[in-house]
Amino acid sequence: MVDTGNWFDVISETQQRKLLASQRDGLWIEVQGQRLLNFASNDYLGLSTNHQVCAAAKAAIDTHGLGSGASRLVSGDDPLLHEFEREFAAWKGFEACLILGSGMLANMGLLPALADRFTHIFSDKLNHASLVDGARLSGAKVHRYPHLDLNILEAQLQKNTAAKRMIVSDGVFSMDGDAVDVQALLDLAETYDTIVVIDDAHGTGTAGIDGKGLVGQAGLAGHVRLLEVGTLGKALGSYGAYILGTSSMIEGLKQRMRTLIYSTALPVCVLAGAQEALNIIKQGDFIKKLHHNIDFFLQNTQGLHLLPSQTAIQPIMLGSDAQALHAAKVMREAGFFVPAIRPPTVPQGQSRLRITLSAQHQQSDIQRLIEALREL
Ligand SMILES: *Cc1c(COP(=O)(O)O)cnc(C)c1O
Repeated sequence: MVDTGNWFDVISETQQRKLLASQRDGLWIEVQGQRLLNFASNDYLGLSTNHQVCAAAKAAIDTHGLGSGASRLVSGDDPLLHEFEREFAAWKGFEACLILGSGMLANMGLLPALADRFTHIFSDKLNHASLVDGARLSGAKVHRYPHLDLNILEAQLQKNTAAKRMIVSDGVFSMDGDAVDVQALLDLAETYDTIVVIDDAHGTGTAGIDGKGLVGQAGLAGHVRLLEVGTLGKALGSYGAYILGTSSMIEGLKQRMRTLIYSTALPVCVLAGAQEALNIIKQGDFIKKLHHNIDFFLQNTQGLHLLPSQTAIQPIMLGSDAQALHAAKVMREAGFFVPAIRPPTVPQGQSRLRITLSAQHQQSDIQRLIEALREL
């Protein structure tokens, strides 16, 4: 008989992941009875608890109920999904948009829809797990290049020819906070006749003065070789995901994406919240406040062991698992929630504290965080 009590290999204490029940209240988070200031959320603009955003979601529950009841291909395709897709595509500057259940579902459906075993995928080594798994699921031949090393990417493109090839990269990288050069990737795409998929989950709502993300900032929205993916779960404060591209690309995806076809449609209440969040983002004040906070953090952290990031994601490198865990514990004792990020989320020996800044933080909050970091 199988021993279900010993099904999994033993995981050492410092590598074990823990799900800590934590209740959020605006900027605060209560973990194991302790009230901490949250520097660990991807809710970069604080919109997940914004009054207007929540009111829009509540109103949608009153008119539409909670769940969507079926896949979009069956009976879950509410008109608001189409309205949001038009609005979001127009704001981002693309021809068409497709809304999916989550970023994980988007990427795990997108890459298998675009690629088969004859396709070659060129993928940054630090890409998000959803892109890694989507590429695996597609059966394509995958070439991984060192993080942001476009010279090696180019060498790989020269060496590996195929009828269909695609370059896949995070926009703003989730654990490092650095960003890909979208123009350089599209130049390579032109030279070597490929398409490009950019996952800007962390750039949307944070990068560029209008928050349109890295692609918009580079002036490359709507490029025929480009597909942009992202989540509604981070700066948009809600849940769900989007894919942007040309009309013919998006139409093709509707025919083939199994995570669209075989999964319950995103509930309208969740989308209504995201739509209100988009309205707020368009007004610009929240982005301005976030950028102000990032500038303040960067100006006051000289000498700390930060990675070179200009974004809301500010990692402090510590090295070993144990050091990162210890640092997280010290920060908790000082009243801050800044968790340790360890392998396999980041490479061995690169454990870190991952600080995320929000438009909601006051300058005094950030000042106190920096003082605690210096004590560390
Ligand atoms: C968070 C994230 C995702 C997953 O999005 P969810 O909506 O949370 O499933 C995908 N890609 C990147 C780069 C991310 O950071």
